[in-house]
Amino acid sequence: MTQTQTATPPDLRFTIVVVGGGTAGIAIAARLKRERPGLDIAIIDPSTTHAYQPGWTLVGAGVMSLRSTLDQEGGVIPAGCTWLRAAVTTFQPDDHTLTLDDGRVIAYGRLLVCPGLQLDWSKIEGLEETLGRNGVCSNYSRDTVEYTWTCIQSLAGGTALFTQPPMPIKCAGAPQKIAYLASDYWRKQGTLNRTSVEFCLSGDALFGVAYFRPSLQKAVDYYGIDVRYKHTLVAVNGPERKATFSVTDADGTVSRVVKSFDMLHVTPPQSAPDFIKNSPLADSAGWLDVDPGTLQHKTYTRIFGAGDVLNTSNAKTMAAARAQTPLVAANILASLDGRPLPGTYDGYGACPLTVSYGKIVLAEFLYGGKPAPSFPYDQRKPSRFAWYLKTTVFPRVYWDMMLKGRDIELPHHPEWAKD
Ligand SMILES: Cc1cc2nc3c(=O)[nH]c(=O)nc-3n(C[C@H](O)[C@H](O)[C@H](O)COP(=O)(O)OP(=O)(O)OC[C@H]3O[C@@H](n4cnc5c(N)ncnc54)[C@H](O)[C@@H]3O)c2cc1C
Repeated sequence: MTQTQTATPPDLRFTIVVVGGGTAGIAIAARLKRERPGLDIAIIDPSTTHAYQPGWTLVGAGVMSLRSTLDQEGGVIPAGCTWLRAAVTTFQPDDHTLTLDDGRVIAYGRLLVCPGLQLDWSKIEGLEETLGRNGVCSNYSRDTVEYTWTCIQSLAGGTALFTQPPMPIKCAGAPQKIAYLASDYWRKQGTLNRTSVEFCLSGDALFGVAYFRPSLQKAVDYYGIDVRYKHTLVAVNGPERKATFSVTDADGTVSRVVKSFDMLHVTPPQSAPDFIKNSPLADSAGWLDVDPGTLQHKTYTRIFGAGDVLNTSNAKTMAAARAQTPLVAANILASLDGRPLPGTYDGYGACPLTVSYGKIVLAEFLYGGKPAPSFPYDQRKPSRFAWYLKTTVFPRVYWDMMLKGRDIELPHHPEWAKD
C-alpha cells in the first residue's frame, strides 16, 4: 500500500499543524495565534533546543556566545499552541494526515511544512570522524561552532582552508564570512602574512548576486585570500590534515587535488530533509514543491511551506523566512476562510556579509538577484551601521518580535539600488 492510500484514523486532529518549530515554524505559528487567538495549532518538532543560527558566524569569530543563540524549544512555543515532541516521518496528503516517528497519525485542516534543510556531513568521506578535532571545524553545527573560534585563535601561521559546497545552501554568504573574519583576526595578530588562506568553492562566482561581488572581491584582495573556483571538498583525513577536492578545470576535465591544512572550515553539502525528499510533497530535486508567490503547495492546496525547505529560488535565509511570515500567515487564514490568497512573496532574502570585525556589506535582494535595499545608503559599502544591526538589533528583533508574532514589515526599496 502506498503512502497516499493509507486511511488510518487519526490519533489527533488540529486546525493547523506546523512541521518544524525552527525559525519559520515558530514565527508563523506565533503570527497566526496573534491574529486569531482561538486557532487550534500544533507544532511538531523533536528538538528540545531552538537555535538562532545567524548568530553562529559571530560565535565562530568569538563575537557572540553560543549560549546567547540558543533557547529551550519549550520556551519559544507560542502560548496556546500544542507542541508534539516527535519527528514527522510520512505524509498522506490525500487523507490530510501525517505520521510521526512514534506511530501517531495527525490530521490537519491546513498544514505548514517548514523543517529546514538537511546537512549532509556524510557525503564528505572522513569528515564525521574528524569534525571538531584536528583543526577541522564548522559554523554550520552548534556542536562545532565554538571550535571554529578555538582554531582561529590557535593558528599562528600555516594554511587555512575554507570550503563551500554546491548550491543551494542556507546562508550562501556564511562560508566566506568566516574566512574574512578569520583573516581580519590574523591580520590584527600580525600572523596573516605567514598564513595562506584559501576559499575553495564548488561554484564559479564569489556570490550569487552580481551587484555585491565587487565589494566582496575587495575584501578577498585586501586579505590576500586565494579563491579557488570549481573546487568541491570530497574527503578529509583529519589526523594527516589533508583535504581532497574534486576540481573541474576550464575544459571540463575533473581531477582530484589533495591540499594540506592546519585549519579547515567546512560548509557541508545540503539538501532537502530525507522525509521530504521521499514524500509526495517533493519536486524532482526533493524540495517542497510550492508556488513561488503564494507558497502554497502546487498540488495539495491545504498545504503551505516556508523557510529553507522550499523549492523557490530565493536565498535560504532567516531574512527570507521573516519576509515570508506575514504573507504565509495571511494565506493560511484566507485558505481557511475560503477567500482568495492575498499574500505574494517577492523572493526577498538578505545576507549580512561580515567583511571585517566591525563592518558589514548588507546584501538584500529579491527573486532574480535584484538588489532591494532597506536603507538609503549604498549597501555595497562595508558599514558599521550594518554591523550594529547584525550584532545587536537583529537578535533582539528575532527573539522579541519575530518569534512572538509581532514583527514589523520593513519596506525594501529596489529603486534605491545604485547603478
Ligand atoms: C552558520 C549559519 C549562518 C547563517 N547566517 C544567516 C544570516 O546572517 N542571516 C540570515 O538571514 N540567515 C542566516 N542563516 C540561515 C538561517 O538560519 C536559516 O535560513 C533559517 O534558520 C531557516 O529557518 P527554517 O525554519 O526553514 O529552518 P530551521 O530554523 O533550521 O528549523 C527547522 C526545524 O525543523 C525541525 N525538524 C527537522 N526535521 C523534522 C521532522 N522530521 N519533523 C519535525 N520537525 C523537524 C528541526 O528540529 C528544526 O527545529 C545562517 C545559517 C547558518 C547555519
